[in-house]
Amino acid sequence: MSNKLQPVRGTHDVLPDEFEKFSAIINIARELGALYGFREMATPIFEATEVFSRSMGETSDVVSKEMFTFETRGGESVTLRPEFTAGMARAFISNGMQQHLPLKLFSTGPLFRYERPQKGRQRQFHQVNYEWLGDDSWQADVEIITLAGHLLYYLSGGKGCTLHINTLGDKESREKYRAALVSYLAPFADKLSEDSKRRLNENPLRILDSKDKGDREILINAPVMTDYLSASAKARFNKICSVLQSDGALLFQEIKIDPALVRGLDYYTDTVFEFVANTGELGAQNTVLAGGRYDGLIEQMGGKSTPAIGFAAGVERLLLLMPNKDISIKDLKIGVFPLFEDDMKLAATNYIAALATLLRVRLKSIKDELKTKREFSAEVIWQGKLSKRLERASKSGFTHAIIIGDDEVNSGKFLLKDMASGTQSSIDRDKLLENDNVKKIFGI
Ligand code: ATP
Ligand code: MG
Repeated sequence: MSNKLQPVRGTHDVLPDEFEKFSAIINIARELGALYGFREMATPIFEATEVFSRSMGETSDVVSKEMFTFETRGGESVTLRPEFTAGMARAFISNGMQQHLPLKLFSTGPLFRYERPQKGRQRQFHQVNYEWLGDDSWQADVEIITLAGHLLYYLSGGKGCTLHINTLGDKESREKYRAALVSYLAPFADKLSEDSKRRLNENPLRILDSKDKGDREILINAPVMTDYLSASAKARFNKICSVLQSDGALLFQEIKIDPALVRGLDYYTDTVFEFVANTGELGAQNTVLAGGRYDGLIEQMGGKSTPAIGFAAGVERLLLLMPNKDISIKDLKIGVFPLFEDDMKLAATNYIAALATLLRVRLKSIKDELKTKREFSAEVIWQGKLSKRLERASKSGFTHAIIIGDDEVNSGKFLLKDMASGTQSSIDRDKLLENDNVKKIFGI
């Protein structure tokens, strides 16, 4: 029974200290998205299995090995989402969003993949995800990659990442390249890994993504995509890289054109990219963000042909990327400590409860007035031994302690202790009737 009380392998609890950072990252991602015109939406955490298997490709690692698929009591096969894009595309089609194009959409939430858990790799993880539908200009590619770079620049506290970029070209370029790759690999077919043998017929480009050592050796002399690009695909890619090389220089440490970057999913076309962290604690999991263009996906899923580009960043990896400084703004945390032990009189209880209410009404009103992101809280620590409660006052991160005993109740005052400086002052309770006084008292 006891191991049943542990979280399931590959999942973990996000306790308050970590949650603070976790939600700060999501808020930054959401705000930055809004700055570039992205609006938030949400899709269900599970979908009909085909939503993922058809779009991501039956031979992709995710579909063939990593999905959490189960049958409902009604006998339908459903899958916990392993990514956002397929569900977003499904939602785009089911809700007739075609008529509102172009659309820039942001989403965040948990995702599920059955993989071997390691640092930065979990079975339940989280992403911030951006999709831009209805714009096939190369400038859109530049802009969304700039947004990705901006996000990582902000979170890493500088140019902490390198952009790896490639183009898969248009359909015509891809078909030519596919044929060249297959004829190069065919003589090595016996030596390829089991996965790659299967891919050779089904999706040879994905062999370029193989991590198998033997495969990597065979690939050293393989033909490269760049040599098979049509003139227009090449021109498109060159323009993108050229603007990114000048503009992006503000945000990324480096831009690497990487002809072997294919990304693991079937739906990508033209531009694909990844951002790799240069520093931080990511180890082997140093790809923090990945995306690409997927102009064929919506039509393939049964919608009207709609160009689209998107990317997603893993929140757990963004957490590891962040320098170890506290990015949360200093919150105001007030603890109210009644100096009574067991037999608190009704009058004292009333006095303290009313003071706490008054304080919370003011804090909420000030928060609304200032539109601040700072969290304000006021909590009364009613129970426990007095010495324990005061010990808690200094240990639990309270910025202020309000101490109330008989003297305070009788004189309509409260004792305020600033926990950082240790200074104490006696203050009239009626001061809590006005926002301005409260701001002064607590240094808001
Ligand atoms: P990897 O090669 O690391 O498995 P991927 O190509 O499977 O990555 P994508 O599907 O492109 O990853 O997902 C985009 C981002 O989501 C990744 O760059 C990473 O930050 C994050 N991510 C993907 N899988 C996981 C996971 N199992 N645990 C934590 N984060 C993940
Ligand atoms: Mg993966």
